[in-house]
Amino acid sequence: ESLDKGLEKSKESFFGKLGKALVGKSTVDDEVLDNLEEILVSSDVGVTTTLKIIERIQQRVARDKYLGTSELDRILKEEVAGLLSENNTDNIEEFETPAGKKPYVIMVVGVNGVGKTTTIGKLSAQFTKKGKKVLLGAADTFRAAAVDQLKLWGERVGVPVIAKGMNTDPSAVAYDAVQAGVDQNVDVIIIDTAGRLHTKVNLMAELTKIKRVMQKVIPDAPHEVLLVLDGSTGQNAMIQAREFTKATEVTALAITKLDGTAKGGVVIGISDEFKIPVKYIGVGEKVGDLQTFNRTEFVDSLFR
Ligand code: GDP
Repeated sequence: ESLDKGLEKSKESFFGKLGKALVGKSTVDDEVLDNLEEILVSSDVGVTTTLKIIERIQQRVARDKYLGTSELDRILKEEVAGLLSENNTDNIEEFETPAGKKPYVIMVVGVNGVGKTTTIGKLSAQFTKKGKKVLLGAADTFRAAAVDQLKLWGERVGVPVIAKGMNTDPSAVAYDAVQAGVDQNVDVIIIDTAGRLHTKVNLMAELTKIKRVMQKVIPDAPHEVLLVLDGSTGQNAMIQAREFTKATEVTALAITKLDGTAKGGVVIGISDEFKIPVKYIGVGEKVGDLQTFNRTEFVDSLFR
């Protein structure tokens, strides 16, 4: 329900434009496809992914000789679902961690302002609700505000936060957090990292060091590298995804702030272009508005 509400703007914008483009049209012809292409691009699906979708619909038109515009919604939904299925599943277990990975270490990356801290707070609350013991590591040591905010979330949710002084080496914090997590026998350790895209080399060096140091305690950590992106920034999110995937191996995406934006299509483009599963989406400010991504539900919400 909050998913439907969260994606409302994207949906309205998309179908508003599509409706106009289809006035007086009964069959899907080149003109309709050109218009659809433009609408998908302006919905932040991304050019590469848009062309892929258009091509697939073209193939259908060629095969079936005739495609009525009344069927376009359904076809589009099928094609987008098909595309998303290449990198995503329908059955991410809600706020669960794989058996045999205890503590499960999540390293969170992303630039400032995308909703990183909020996402970590929401994740902590959801994991806690599931009966899991959570511990946070404030390895974003460059912003006092980031550490304070994480501590606030820790208090609110009732989970410990490992922090050190400002400007201490982030990897030292990560090490302490992972060690504390092992000592306290927690289920999930979530490490916040600094999101400065200053220079790619620095970012890469910093993230590599954090990983190396935590591996001294848990050899296969981090089990998840979660990149947080602000969905409302559309193509900027795409650019950030490019930078971070070059700097480190990103294994999952969290796309925030999809409520209040018409750029929900960015989820489709990013997942397709980077071949990384979307694990969480943020569709509001409340804790429950961070949801595990379900591709069928997402497509159902976005394409009626
Ligand atoms: P950080 O700098 O990346 O840690 O960003 P914050 O976690 O401080 O979030 C920045 C702002 O975005 C805050 O005001 C959050 O409440 C807001 N925010 C985060 N996620 C969402 C979301 O899914 N929807 C909405 N509407 N706001 C969000």
